[in-house]
This record gives sequence, structure tokens and C-alpha cells, in this order.
Amino acid sequence: MKIASIKVTPIAFRDPPLLNASGVHEPFALRTIIEIESDTGLVGLGETYGDRSTLLPLLQVKDALIGLSPFDLNGVLERVASLCSPVAARAALDVSPASKGDKTVAKVFSALEVACMDLQARHLNAPLWELLGGAVRREVPFSAYLFFKFGRHFDAPYPPDTWGEVLTEQQLVAEARKMIAAYGFGSIKLKAGALDPDVEANCLKALKRAFPTHPLRIDPNANWTLETSIRVAKLLADDLEYYEDPTPGLEGMAALHKATGLPLATNMVVTDWDEFRRSVALDSVQIVLADHHYWGGLRATQALARMCETFGIGLSMHSNSHLGISLMAMTHLAATVPNLTYACDTHYPWQEDEVIRGGKIPIRNGCVAVGDVPGLGLEIDQAALARLHAQYLECGARDRDDEAEMRKHRPDWVKRKPRF
Ligand SMILES: [Mg+2]
Repeated sequence: MKIASIKVTPIAFRDPPLLNASGVHEPFALRTIIEIESDTGLVGLGETYGDRSTLLPLLQVKDALIGLSPFDLNGVLERVASLCSPVAARAALDVSPASKGDKTVAKVFSALEVACMDLQARHLNAPLWELLGGAVRREVPFSAYLFFKFGRHFDAPYPPDTWGEVLTEQQLVAEARKMIAAYGFGSIKLKAGALDPDVEANCLKALKRAFPTHPLRIDPNANWTLETSIRVAKLLADDLEYYEDPTPGLEGMAALHKATGLPLATNMVVTDWDEFRRSVALDSVQIVLADHHYWGGLRATQALARMCETFGIGLSMHSNSHLGISLMAMTHLAATVPNLTYACDTHYPWQEDEVIRGGKIPIRNGCVAVGDVPGLGLEIDQAALARLHAQYLECGARDRDDEAEMRKHRPDWVKRKPRF
């Protein structure tokens, strides 16, 4: 079996006005869909970032892979590493670890690796989890990923979402109730770093009262100083499953852990092997949030899991805005990693558009299930893909920029980190 063609399609899908430390989500989130067709007529699927820093290198390298076996992942990596040149993003977005440093090869290879492995599995008539070593769980738990949000986008290119404005304790608890009623999530993550830290801490307390048995996490995306992080830690110490990236830097996180003893999690200070090594030396974090999209693929993330096991570090999973191909790649991977013992993050409940046949993947009892269908178990809905590609061409966005979007709502808003 050889790779006969590779189709790389940028898409844009509707995304609610979710707040974070860097500003607010724009009306459209960008992704890239990869379809690798074999000379035997099978198609493997992948999904990754849609920013130019990922899209352009993918377009640059794709035709050089034609003729390779989709099983030859070393061959794919060698060509990606030799042909991809980094493309500077317009604005490095520090809530997205993929924009940190040069992750071009890891990002591009990962997108192609998932599609190649989907193809391998289809060729073998086996589900992807089987190819990844077998499932230690068939249902993968995800957390309810709560955000503060505006009621509508600034220029409202489509009708407002049904979640409404969420800027107070009452609104946040209502958001949590709605999301948990719809999907059955058994743990909760609050995206913080957007409002005053005391407001956010009170919101977390309100969630604790409303959901006393749900494990809770808070993630201010390094928007709090060490001093603020220590102060809030005292308020929330008994309420947190883990404390995610409150303060910047490996040294800052190490000092925070030393001062509070709280388990710290990250997708910001440990995003590659060098940072992993330094974190172990400093005892900066106790839980790493893995993400195959920038760690270099499914197998690289399994290697990260073994490293975490070796050094006694916990493992959870990070998410950016994504659709179903990414969700199933995350789920097949998570199904095969024994020490992935925390519920994974996903933005999926916030998304309404899809590119796969059958529409949105169900989340039941807070879990996504893997089945016995070959590969990822997904087929592209070509009409939906064409529609979301047309949306990409029309919306004009080419790189994510939450900061500029925030200034449409609040013209005097200036990004400052850590802000609080
Ligand atoms: Mg995070």
C-alpha cells in the first residue's frame, strides 16, 4: 500500500465568544483537515490547527510523501523534518502551546501520522486503538470545560449561541448545570485568568457548592503572579483536583509548588522534551497535560506517558477548539494509555459545526466511547467539508488573534501578562 494523494483543506467553524487570558475567541475557529488516499482506495483522516504556521508547512510537504508506505512513519518524519520551514504566526498566542517555540515539525508530522495510522488501521481492518497497543478502557472520560463568555460576538456574523452571557457566579453555575445535564461530565475545569482572581475563586467555590463530589480544576493560563497564585491557593486548597498553570514559567511553578504543596498541572511550561527534563529537575509540575497535536503524534504521546510514569508525574490531556476527527484521535489515544487517570479536556461541547458523516460524536456519562469500526471509525461529509472550507475563504481569518478580538469589545483593553 502506497500513499497516492494527500488533500489538505483549511476550514472555519463557528466558535462562541469564550474568554481567556489572551482575550476572547473570534467568531470562527480555524482547523485543517487532512485526507490521505492510498493506491488501494482507502482514505485516512487527520485534523490539526488551521493557522498559517501549521497549514503552510503542511501544503509545502504533502506532495513529497506520495509513493511512501503509510506504515513508513520514519520516512514521513524524515521528509517533514527536511522539507518544512517554520512560518511565523502573526501573533504568538500564549494560551495555545502549539505557538510556543518552533513546533512546526512536531505539529505537521502529528497531523500526517494520525491520518497514516488511520489508513494503516483501515488496511488491517482494525480499530486504531488496537494498532496503538490495545484499549485499557473503551470509554474515555472528559471534563466539563467551563468558560466565562460574552453573550454575543462583537460583529455577530450569525445568531448568538444558546449559552448566553457568563460573567457571574450564578451564570457560571447555570452553564455548568446545562453542560453536565447534556453530557454527564463527572469532573469540571474552569478556564480562568479572564476576570478578577477573587471573582474567579468565588466562582470556583460556587461550583464546589453546586457539585460537591465533582473534581474541580482551575486554569488561569499563567495570568496570575506568583504572589496572587499563592494567595488564591490558600482560598482554594481544599477544592482543587489540580491547579493548572496559574503562574508563568518552570521556575514560577516550582516556587508555587514549594510554597503550597498543591499538585500543579500544565500545558504551558512542559510542551517539549527539553522542558520536561527541566521540570523534573525543578519539580515544577506534578501533572502534564498531553496533546498529540503538538507533542509529535500519537506514538510520541504514548512515549510522554511512559516518561510521566517513570518520573511519577500524573497525566491528563489538553484541548484547543476542535472537531470530531481530533476528538476521536484523542479518544483512541487515551483509550490505550494506562496512566491517563484524569478526565481529558475538550472544547467539543462548544462546537456546533462538524465535517464528519452523522454529525457530532456523542458524549454520554461524560465519556466518548471507542468502537470496533476500522481506523478512527469516521468518514468525511464532503458537503460539510466544502461548506466549512467556503466559510474559511469568506471569514478572512488566517491566524487566531483573541487579543484583537477583545479590543473590538473593549477598545482600551491591552494584553498584559501576568495581569493579576
Ligand atoms: Mg491549560
